[in-house]
Order: sequence, then structure tokens, then C-alpha cells
Amino acid sequence: MYLEPNFDLILHFACPASPDDFLKFSIETMKANSLGTLKTLELAHLNDARYVFASTSEVYGDPLVNPQNEGYWGNVNPIGPRSVYNEVKRFSEALSIAYQKKNGLDVRIPRIFNTYGPNMRIDDGRVVPNFIIQALRGEPLSVYGDGSQTRSLCYIDDLVEGIFKMSLIDDLSGQVINLGNPEEYSIIDLARLIIKKTGSNSDIIFKSLPIDDPMQRCPDIRIAKDILNWQPKTMLDAGLDETIHFFNYINNS
Ligand code: UDP
Repeated sequence: MYLEPNFDLILHFACPASPDDFLKFSIETMKANSLGTLKTLELAHLNDARYVFASTSEVYGDPLVNPQNEGYWGNVNPIGPRSVYNEVKRFSEALSIAYQKKNGLDVRIPRIFNTYGPNMRIDDGRVVPNFIIQALRGEPLSVYGDGSQTRSLCYIDDLVEGIFKMSLIDDLSGQVINLGNPEEYSIIDLARLIIKKTGSNSDIIFKSLPIDDPMQRCPDIRIAKDILNWQPKTMLDAGLDETIHFFNYINNS
């Protein structure tokens, strides 16, 4: 006899997340975070399951306040090249909260800031894999713009711990929480650090800044600290060591 699957917890993380993929998979990205969110919310509702929607710091767009707290509404271009990602993530947040308010669904929304670590794709296109691979191969590191834009980089193990806590702690329905590492670096400093750590002879070359590339990004994680008793433990130095070790292995195999 075929039994309908039963769910206690649904985590909707299905979506490309590299800006390089936004152009390649624009419609798919929008479907995953509109139809995909609707269908998985329905499934959660049918099963009375807890629902965790993976949102993003991209909902803050090119933020006019720094650091960004969960109360900030963002500064988003609705028709720019990143809108296929940030606007549907905003739509999915709204839809998830509508299900929570109307149907009493237990919904939680982590807003995930830049995350890195081993097992990223070599051609992922995001800054950490790009710089490490370029440095290991002795190619110039491609800094977009003048490199003064900032990012705050969270090591994958820390993020996973935050997601677990957000999924498993009771009485969090309707809660939106920033998950990220508040250590903020300029991209040019990151490039220099990766050259140093890999012992590379690579130069740095400057390429044009992608349209709507946010100039600053740093999470305010006070809510995560208070409610989840969570904060990142892995500082950039140690996280980069692990990541360089991984890409070194991949690059040589
Ligand atoms: N970036 C860069 N060189 C690269 C890849 C990215 O200078 O080879 C910059 C990019 O313009 C952005 C930052 O690094 O300012 C982070 O980009 P990433 O694609 O990792 O993530 P984003 O924060 O833009 O989603």
C-alpha cells in the first residue's frame, strides 16, 4: 500500500545563490521561490509541519544602513539583474508570513548572509572560490570595482548550526533572524589576505563592478544571539584555511 509521505519539518532551500547563476537561471530562480514556496507551504500546511524558508541578506538590496537589522526594509531595484533573486525571496517571505497569519503555520525565516567553505563549486562564481582558485593557479585575482565594497563572511559549519537551532527550538513561529558573521571586510582586503594565505604570486586586476552590487553588507545578529544563543565561532582566518585546503585538493586532482 502506498502511504502519503508525512512531514514534521520542511526546509525550503532550493535555489541557485550565486550572482553568476542569476542570469543563467533567472526564470528557474523565480519559479523556485514562487511556485516552489507555494507548493512547499501547502505541503507543510497539509502535514501541520514546521516550515523554514531560506531567505537572504539580498532582501536588504544595496542597504542604506549598516549593519542591517531585521527591521530594515531594504533598498531593492525591482527590475535589476539581481531582482530575479532578491524580489522572489521577498515574495517568499511575505507568502510564508501570510500562511503563518492565516493558517497558523509554524514558519521561521533565516536571512542568510554570505557563506563560504569546503565543497563549494570550483566555478561557483562567488568571491571566495574565485579568489582561492585564481591564487592557487597563479592567475590574477579579479576584483570587481575598486574593491572597497564590503562583505561579512560566515563559515558553513556556523551557518548550519544556526539553521539547526532555528529549525529545532520551539516557539519561534513568525520569527525572522539574520544568520551571518558580523566581521566585515573590504573585497580588496580579502583578495590580499587570500594571496598571502596561499603564498601565491598572483596580481590583482580590477574589473567592472556588476550592476546593483551592494556596497556594504554586515549582519546585525543581536536577535540570533538573544533568541538562539547563537553566534559564529569560526573567524575568517581559520575558515579560509579549511577552504583553501579543500580547493587545493580539488585543484590538484
Ligand atoms: N567579487 C569580486 N570578484 C569576484 C567575485 C565577486 O570582486 O571574482 C565581489 C562582488 O562584486 C561582490 C563581492 O565580491 O562585491 C561578493 O560577491 P559574491 O558573488 O561572492 O556574493 P554577493 O555578496 O554579491 O551575493
